[in-house]
Amino acid sequence: MPEPENAVQIDVKKIIQDFPVLDQEVHPGKKLIYLDSAATSQKPVQVTGAMTDYYHRANANIHRGIHALAETATDMYEGAREKVAFLINAATPSEIIYTRNTTESINLVASSWGRAGLKPGDLVILTEMEHHSNLVPWQMLAETIGIRLEFIPVSQDGLLDLQAYQLLLEEDPKLVAFMHMSNVLGTINPAQKIIQLAHQAGALTLVDGAQAVPHFPVDVQDLDADFYAFSSHKMLGPTGIGILYGKKHLLEAMPPYMGGGDMIKRVKLRSFAPNDLPHKFEAGTPAIAEAVGLGAAVDYLSAVGMHNVAAYEHHLTKYALDRLAEVPGVWVFGPEANQKGGVASFTFEGVHPHDVSQILDAEGIAVRAGHHCAMPLHEKFKINATSRASFYIYNTTAEIDRLIDGLYSVKKIFG
Ligand code: PMP
Repeated sequence: MPEPENAVQIDVKKIIQDFPVLDQEVHPGKKLIYLDSAATSQKPVQVTGAMTDYYHRANANIHRGIHALAETATDMYEGAREKVAFLINAATPSEIIYTRNTTESINLVASSWGRAGLKPGDLVILTEMEHHSNLVPWQMLAETIGIRLEFIPVSQDGLLDLQAYQLLLEEDPKLVAFMHMSNVLGTINPAQKIIQLAHQAGALTLVDGAQAVPHFPVDVQDLDADFYAFSSHKMLGPTGIGILYGKKHLLEAMPPYMGGGDMIKRVKLRSFAPNDLPHKFEAGTPAIAEAVGLGAAVDYLSAVGMHNVAAYEHHLTKYALDRLAEVPGVWVFGPEANQKGGVASFTFEGVHPHDVSQILDAEGIAVRAGHHCAMPLHEKFKINATSRASFYIYNTTAEIDRLIDGLYSVKKIFG
């Protein structure tokens, strides 16, 4: 018997009502079961409402206008930054840089810090489980500057090999860049330990927190992370805005990433003086309504409580892993429930993941199939693709039961 949902400290029924998109049939008689939140989360009315309210009440360009509306818009945009800073316990809001997404946050560090600070032959340590967004920017630096890349291996049960990591640390790395939680394996990496060891070896650290901040409490000061990247759209907020957290002294020493309006203090025909943090890294008119929406998403998650979010997702994940283990031919990748977040990537013996997804879709169940932007990891496991079900606070064990029923239909169809 599944643990009753109300045993965990969140009111799932009430939460579901905040997400109108969930209340629909995607095919006749087939109510939507959305199990693709690792790709992007759904948005509650509190978020869409905050964005609409901004446009109806306060739309103006920020920072530059000395009129009432511009001041309101600026306050809303900067207020959201304060909320994000509080959520991840940044020392000051000026350590929170708005970007477009996790990908841009990582590219910002690679372009600005990397180009200014790395020399040919310098070592950057990554892991074999990285998303392409934390691989390709470093590969581009390997091509242009000639930096060296090494990778912490992933074991068959989806964990990082920390002994191999310690050996790599003896090679004088300049940066260790790794994901906090894998979008494929669900593995929650021991970020604090990885960072501590990196610092002992004299390296800085960048954490890809795209799958972490939406799902469990993250404290960047406690972690002692140097850079930490994540996206609004995976944490109930809108698309088009992401975050780069960086320690103030590091961001201050870095050259601007893009040039243009707002990132300057003064401009002459042949020179410019960059603005203070965080504006130095926010050239041009930013995603203002999206920042307001992100602020509302942070409010929503904070009201639920990040510990409650994590506990509820753990309950769902454990239930899903137990039930998936019952289905003959299904193989789930990654560690056990106590070492992973709400992601279950699996193969189904003899059936292509795209076919699995298509049959599930006909039942109204949205899961993702493919390499999930982690081709090297799939190669490591000698597969081309997996099907991935991922969970968030609006999912229930009843929906996981429907997923399992759907997988039995797959089995019936493919014999
Ligand atoms: N890293 C991880 C772990 C992810 O899951 C994702 C999104 N799939 C990204 C980075 C990239 O996020 P975005 O597309 O929002 O830049």
